Amino acid sequence: MIWSREETLDREDIEKIQLERLKNAVKRAYNNVPLYRNKFDSVNLKPDDINSLEDLKKVPFTTKEDFRENYPFKMFAVPKKEIIRIHGSSGTTGKPTVVGYTKKDIETWSELVARVISATGVTNEDTAQVAFGYGLFTGGFGLHYGLEKVGVTVVPMSSGNTEKQIMLMKDFETTVLICTPSYALHIAEVAEKMGIDPKKDLKIKIGLFGGEGLSESARKELESRFLMLATSNYGMSELMGPGVSGECEYKVGMHISEDHFIAEIIDPKTGEVLPEGEVGELVITALTKEALPVLRYRTKDLTSLNYKKCKCGRTTVRMNKIKGRSDDMLIIRGVNVFPSQIESVLESIEEIGPHYEIIVTKKGHMDELTINIELADGKFLETYRCLEQISKKVDHKLKTVLGLSSKINIAQPRTLERFEGKARRVKDLRDNE
Ligand SMILES: [Zn+2]
Repeated sequence: MIWSREETLDREDIEKIQLERLKNAVKRAYNNVPLYRNKFDSVNLKPDDINSLEDLKKVPFTTKEDFRENYPFKMFAVPKKEIIRIHGSSGTTGKPTVVGYTKKDIETWSELVARVISATGVTNEDTAQVAFGYGLFTGGFGLHYGLEKVGVTVVPMSSGNTEKQIMLMKDFETTVLICTPSYALHIAEVAEKMGIDPKKDLKIKIGLFGGEGLSESARKELESRFLMLATSNYGMSELMGPGVSGECEYKVGMHISEDHFIAEIIDPKTGEVLPEGEVGELVITALTKEALPVLRYRTKDLTSLNYKKCKCGRTTVRMNKIKGRSDDMLIIRGVNVFPSQIESVLESIEEIGPHYEIIVTKKGHMDELTINIELADGKFLETYRCLEQISKKVDHKLKTVLGLSSKINIAQPRTLERFEGKARRVKDLRDNE
């Protein structure tokens, strides 16, 4: 179902709205946030210089570091009394990245999430269990308000407490599951251990997954284990939270609400804007945020854009699956390696399951890449020959893609670590040795 007319506008009409809103967003940022004023002044740019969407290129980028340096409230463009909600995302330095919302921002956020969930087919007939964390993290509350706007019956479970989670899912006849893909897989495994068959005993028919990428193999596994439609959505607290983009029922890229966001793809090294279809870093400008204007935010996520009209009837630009982070590139023996490359190789091998670990160590002066994988089925454990063949296959495929040889360890099904939040699958241990 299409929630808003704005999702189906012609390019010309959407661009008209974008330009008008962009001009306002730039003014609001320049006039109220010293960070933006300084950035503009440093390149001799005035808000009046922005007269076309093309002019957006002149605006300096905003980064996560800007949020850190302006902790906690210096990015806000409105007096604190107009802020009705604070959220934050955890940072490695201990201080969270702080974001704030006005009353109107919360309304906009609910509207955007309502669009994303409607795109998957969720309606007011559904009962949705939100198994994202509630709290400073934007996942729980973000989805919650959008679901309520659609009229969905919301079960605000938060993450963890898996057995109770499953019990309520069964008792409440929950039809929609909302969490990270890795947690959903964990839920399926725990359910099976409890003697509950997610396919027969639960009524989940749609899964909205976010917080981490949904690989095609994890999608396939979730769809077959729960008998559901597994969709992926995208957001981050700096831009608002969940609701920036999401897949429709056709699962062909995540629709971005272009009346609220302008998406660009840049070369992460040069900052140059790349044409449609090329892979680069996603940069987002928020057009309607009041409390916290965000101009050309560098998400560090690598993806590409597709402007073709979708089968669902939406005309909004779609972002493809995140291919990795511009800053999580590993350099192993001088070779650039993205964990997503390893993931797609593993996905293509049917004997192995969706869980894996990438471990980088140093032996003497040499980097070593070890990949721990898990068998999809215990039956492959029967002969040593069989294991050897799987290991050879993985090594060979990885070598072709990465140009590197690696050590493959094969574990029994269900033995690698599971995560209730974001999966941490890469361990670079080189600094510790
Ligand atoms: Zn679509």
